[in-house]
Amino acid sequence: MKTLPVWQQKDEFLQSLKDNQVLILVGETGSGKTTQIPQFVLESVGIEAPDKRKKMMIACTQPRRVAAMSVSRRVAEEMDVTIGEEVGYSIRFEDCSKAMTDPLLERYRVIVLDEAHERTLATEVLFGLLKEVLKNRPDLKLVVMSATLEAEKFQGYFYGAPLMKVPGRLHPVEIFYTQEPERDYLEAAIRTVVQIHMCEPAGDMLVFLTGEEEIEDECQKISKEIANMGYQVGPVKVVPLYSTLPPAMQQKIFEPFPPPLKEGGPCGRKIVVSTNIAETSLTIDGIFYVIDPGFAKQKVYNPRVRVESLLVSPISKASAHQRAGRAGRTQPGKCFRLYTEKMLTLKKLEIDDLVHFDLMDPPPPETLMRALEVLNYLGALDDDGNLTKHGEIMSEFPLDPQMSKMLVVSPEFSCSNEILCISAMLSVPNCFVRPREAQKSADEAQFGHIDGDHLILLNVYHAYKQNNENPTWCYENFINHRALKAADNVRQQLVRIMARFTLKLCSTDFNSCDYYVNIRKAMLAVYFMQVAHLERTGHYLTVKDNQVVHLHPSNCLDHKPEWVVYNEFVLTRRNFIRTVTDVCGEWLVDIVPHYYDLANFPQCEAKRVLQRLYRKREGDREERKQYFGYLILVLLFGPKG
Ligand code: ADP
Ligand code: MG
Repeated sequence: MKTLPVWQQKDEFLQSLKDNQVLILVGETGSGKTTQIPQFVLESVGIEAPDKRKKMMIACTQPRRVAAMSVSRRVAEEMDVTIGEEVGYSIRFEDCSKAMTDPLLERYRVIVLDEAHERTLATEVLFGLLKEVLKNRPDLKLVVMSATLEAEKFQGYFYGAPLMKVPGRLHPVEIFYTQEPERDYLEAAIRTVVQIHMCEPAGDMLVFLTGEEEIEDECQKISKEIANMGYQVGPVKVVPLYSTLPPAMQQKIFEPFPPPLKEGGPCGRKIVVSTNIAETSLTIDGIFYVIDPGFAKQKVYNPRVRVESLLVSPISKASAHQRAGRAGRTQPGKCFRLYTEKMLTLKKLEIDDLVHFDLMDPPPPETLMRALEVLNYLGALDDDGNLTKHGEIMSEFPLDPQMSKMLVVSPEFSCSNEILCISAMLSVPNCFVRPREAQKSADEAQFGHIDGDHLILLNVYHAYKQNNENPTWCYENFINHRALKAADNVRQQLVRIMARFTLKLCSTDFNSCDYYVNIRKAMLAVYFMQVAHLERTGHYLTVKDNQVVHLHPSNCLDHKPEWVVYNEFVLTRRNFIRTVTDVCGEWLVDIVPHYYDLANFPQCEAKRVLQRLYRKREGDREERKQYFGYLILVLLFGPKG
């Protein structure tokens, strides 16, 4: 621990933290920022309030849940305390620390913003919030940390805060490119792994892929390929790493490589196959070889379609550089890029430029417009841009605005019990297990619904409860027990919030033909912006934006409904809509005007109102930024004051 690079600048850091309210720290990945700095802070600033009457907390924010869990566990270990007591973590719906509900962050003595270069809507808002809070709380301190960041921009943003650089102990990494573009990067990655294992000296490997399914698949194939080679090569331990991996499995990446099969035989290796979590968030020691196919799934907000979608896209040059660096942490390493050198110079930052809005700059007007529009049509903001009663209640739910709204209106459709289940199920990842060896049986496990994936989720939840939450039942029916347990927990939390606002818990009689109809209507009442229509040509068009979309192959429908409401827009090679339910066109006409008084909905009237609103609020850059931050904030943390 004490050999980590940050230790060499410990005194300098502590002094600087004493003298300044805000401090910016840049250091190579693996230099010990995340695990050591919070401990330094604890040692120097401590957690005593200035008046010494109460204890406060130190927060370290992480953009990824896996990192939050893994790192807090590590820090607890190093401090020799039990996780959940002195050291805890908090991710959405799974609180292992105290909740963050006070707007002035009065429980916090120091905030450490880690991985500040990760740009999301939430961090953008957090920056805005913190800047405000720092003015009102002179005793609060802020440390901004990152591996690769535009330090000057952050300095400018935080009134010229001092910058500290921790020199990395990065060794040279030799880079290899493919001569010709690869047609299949998954296959190319396996080939490269096997090649390295046969020909290169000992040392672990890190392979970057884009997502769970791909990673699990690749792990199996690599294991099999190498097992087939028998005793001529050393044994391998192939471990996956992605965000929805169960915590116990995550720890495997830190286990050592396997011993030789027989004494004196070829030595073993660890092969980690990971998403870009391993790019900066988590550091794995002992990596000598990096295999980089050049792709990543990126969450991008596209204001034109008004959805955040996961897009498999070429990585930026900065990412490619960062990935290569993972091979040179403890010794000189090698990075195998599965693309040509020319491609790297060509692709540059194209994707980022198109869809990411810049972290330190105000969001583009169109994004702002869309955000306002969504909040306005959901009835969370009135035409003057003030938070409504509905909006206040909605902001209490730790959910996106639409889902909150769906819960708020569900009693009017006599189905709040069911909408609670669906919301909870949609809030947890991967309820279904599709083991490779039993794909067919998994797909055949039926939960008796052909009208919609939302309704399947509801039935799965009910079946789980009826079977007494039994893990064996889950296993036999290809249901992820951990996900269901989490959903159940989320549901209980949502029920408590419903109760606080006296929102009625009710159901339609199950034997009535309106049981499912009411549920579908409640969904439509909120998600009417996410409706698609089957065209004569056989594909679907989204109603609001006329985008051509296809039903995601995972859907449960046995027919192609004329109208569907969908939960998610997935952009891969084609545009897919995922989690879809059959709805009736007439309901759209009935319900939408009843709930939303938008005369010429959707385009003209709503646009005009919002344009007026927007112009009124435009002001200068700073004001625009803050107002946007405020809106999202209200929805994330509840109304201010
Ligand atoms: P940084 O934030 O600067 O990238 P970290 O503080 O995350 O660096 O990591 C510092 C060191 O601690 C790394 O060498 C990493 O491998 C090690 N480390 C972090 N978490 C664990 C863990 N759970 N088990 C073993 N080693 C860990
Ligand atoms: Mg870190």
